[in-house]
Amino acid sequence: MREPRRIPMVDLVGQYERLKPDIDAAIAEVVESARFIGGPVVERFEWALAEYLGVEHVVSCANGTDALQLALMALDLQPGDEVIVPAFTYVATAEVIALLRLRPVMVDVDERTFNLTGAIVEAAITERTKAVVPVHLFGQGAEMDAIMEVAERHGLYVVEDNAQAIGAQYVDRDGQKRALGAFGNVGTTSFFPSKNLGCYGDGGALYTDDAALAERLRMLRNHGQKRRYYHEIVGVNSRLDAIQAAVLHVKLAHLDDFIARRRRVADMYDAAFRDIDGLVIPWRDPRGDHVFHQYTLRVLDGRRDALRAHLERLGISTNIYYPVPLYRQRAFEGWTDVDYLPVTERLCAEVLSLPIHTEMDDATLEYIVDGVRGFFRVGS
Ligand SMILES: *Cc1c(COP(=O)(O)O)cnc(C)c1O
Repeated sequence: MREPRRIPMVDLVGQYERLKPDIDAAIAEVVESARFIGGPVVERFEWALAEYLGVEHVVSCANGTDALQLALMALDLQPGDEVIVPAFTYVATAEVIALLRLRPVMVDVDERTFNLTGAIVEAAITERTKAVVPVHLFGQGAEMDAIMEVAERHGLYVVEDNAQAIGAQYVDRDGQKRALGAFGNVGTTSFFPSKNLGCYGDGGALYTDDAALAERLRMLRNHGQKRRYYHEIVGVNSRLDAIQAAVLHVKLAHLDDFIARRRRVADMYDAAFRDIDGLVIPWRDPRGDHVFHQYTLRVLDGRRDALRAHLERLGISTNIYYPVPLYRQRAFEGWTDVDYLPVTERLCAEVLSLPIHTEMDDATLEYIVDGVRGFFRVGS
């Protein structure tokens, strides 16, 4: 029997094959220069990303989790200070808060965007609240206009976890569009291979318009030194490899095209699933532009796992981001008093993410669409 073809969540090999000459040349240049850590290739990528995002400073680092940790280390926070964080996110967002002995205050999310809102943040503020970490989950922006208004009124730092929404914009209070990650004091991102702008290993970055903060971040990521072997603060070792920067610089020129390709897949899914009663297609906030790091359906009536099994039998990969609210994770026992947030609970039970990437062809897309529609017994 012929092994049936499996449809993966992402197609990094297909993307590499399309960009191969440029990527191979960029990697070879680094290897031949033997400047593997820091150096001109990393600096050039930081400048290019700053220009793309419209921010003053980009500070690269070793991964997206470190970016969050560095952001919190750079701000004036003391152990026990409260940091508001959504309970429906990847673990990294809350992990670094606990790691620094700050107090993660886990809150619910908006049912349509899966993100924090200004009202949710405001309701969680106490006199110990010092910061908030909005996450732009699955590629859709949290309402940064309202969140910034609340944060400014209460004097809170804002660290935007933009690991999933690089390249997305949102309308600011002045009516102008601005890059997500550029609203708060500092934005963080991840270049994990499957992210919208992914490298060929681990990588991450921070961005900010605050020159003093950028300088502090540069020191923190490199053992607290400005001048080699003179250490002014206690830092960490978290630097971006030049090989990763070279790959990222090539891919950055394609980021808008990557986003357009993802959005095309999302548009086709939306059109195919809109009329199915048991499904909720991703809501799109008209003030932002969803970049679809994930295409995440809500499957109603307790049928999520059955749909997933049905698609699995057809060789279609799916994933559940995220199956367990952060406050139910063993790691956070003792870190939070929260034990039930209704929207987070419902989302963990209902969400299902379908394959979405830059190399999706029409035949594969149709096969996935037919698989989903077949489960609900609606024709194609
Ligand atoms: C991927 C991701 C991170 C962490 O990035 P790494 O590079 O894997 O450390 C943090 N937050 C969110 C929301 C992510 O999706």
